[in-house]
Amino acid sequence: MAKREQVDVLVIGAGPSGSVSSAFLHRNGFKVKVVEKERFPRFVIGESLLPRCMDNFEEVGLLDVLKKQNYQIKVGARFVRDGKDCWFDFEDHFSKGWTWTWQVPRGHFDKVLIDEVASWGVDVAFETAVTAVDTSGERQLTTVRHADGGETLIESKFVIDASGYGRVLPRLLQLDQPSVMPPRSSIFSHFTDRRRPEGILGERITLVIHRKDVWLWIIPFSNGITSVGFAGNPDYFATYDNDDKSKQLLDMINDVPFVRERFHDQEMVVPGMMLKTYSASVKSFFGPGYVLAGNSSEFIDPVFSSGVTFATESGVLAAKLAKRQLNGEGVDWQAEYVMYMHQGIDFGHTPSTATPGHRQKKGRIC
Ligand SMILES: Cc1cc2nc3c(=O)[nH]c(=O)nc-3n(C[C@H](O)[C@H](O)[C@H](O)COP(=O)(O)OP(=O)(O)OC[C@H]3O[C@@H](n4cnc5c(N)ncnc54)[C@H](O)[C@@H]3O)c2cc1C
Repeated sequence: MAKREQVDVLVIGAGPSGSVSSAFLHRNGFKVKVVEKERFPRFVIGESLLPRCMDNFEEVGLLDVLKKQNYQIKVGARFVRDGKDCWFDFEDHFSKGWTWTWQVPRGHFDKVLIDEVASWGVDVAFETAVTAVDTSGERQLTTVRHADGGETLIESKFVIDASGYGRVLPRLLQLDQPSVMPPRSSIFSHFTDRRRPEGILGERITLVIHRKDVWLWIIPFSNGITSVGFAGNPDYFATYDNDDKSKQLLDMINDVPFVRERFHDQEMVVPGMMLKTYSASVKSFFGPGYVLAGNSSEFIDPVFSSGVTFATESGVLAAKLAKRQLNGEGVDWQAEYVMYMHQGIDFGHTPSTATPGHRQKKGRIC
């Protein structure tokens, strides 16, 4: 028979969205449990951050531990198209806020965050996957399966689904709907980078627009390793199709002179990985006793590196609104959560109207 547990809030997933929402609720006196399917560190893509996420980490008390990690500082981005170079600096911003952030190996970064939350006393269960949920009653009933095959039934007043690509509640509650975004594929790995240029040129994230519908990233980390990946139209990826994704990635790199010179003979420190048609959308971001945060709700094209920022922005806001609801205050989830988050999502969905030069103040060469 399944064991039973009771908490105030169950958070599904220990990525950045789950870490910030559990941190906020714990600091506000709620009994929180986080369940995470994987053992950490685990690989996840999404390594270039935006300054706005620093506010979110600071607000929930997670910035100090991140500052100790010596991650690569990111002060802007470099876009390259048709041999032309365009640099953007966060200090040329249009509103107040942080002028820098980091480029991070997410396996390490996500573990630092959730380990810190666990060190405060939050119950974090790794290798524990949600398999079923019943949201029909006053309390949410969530079934989780442990690595040894055992099950626990977790009774909670509220559930935050921060399961990212796992999309736990959208799948279990049939909330999925087709995305308005065109299908996209991506292939990537981490490389040694022995020809990394000196100084800012070697440190800065570089986004290369290879063709109209295919771009690639170079994201250097402070540990000497660099993330390289392609994203774009699945038809382009099909022309290189190979069961060996490391080989496929190398073939693709070898056809782009900009990256071939630097990476053709470097070692991959993790095998090449591919994501196919990863865009997703949902009919609703919330329901009685639950909310979707981060990637479990909508997916934004990664060209502007907005995923972790969206995940933490929605994670903190979801936690704040859950706190109010649990304290008996009324919450208008549509107006206070969905509409707010959609401002960011809609911007991220329209890259053609939000090209890098769109609001540029002083890119160096464009
Ligand atoms: C090609 C590509 C490039 C990207 N580049 C960037 C970038 O440069 N910058 C950026 O900010 N973002 C980027 N992103 C987006 C980024 O990957 C995500 O937005 C970000 O990881 C979302 O964080 P999250 O906390 O919502 O989910 P995740 O980080 O995915 O965490 C969710 C967690 O939930 C767990 N989980 C899943 N199912 C279950 C289950 N059944 N039970 C329990 N736990 C479960 C998972 O194991 C996982 O650890 C990119 C995405 C793609 C596809």
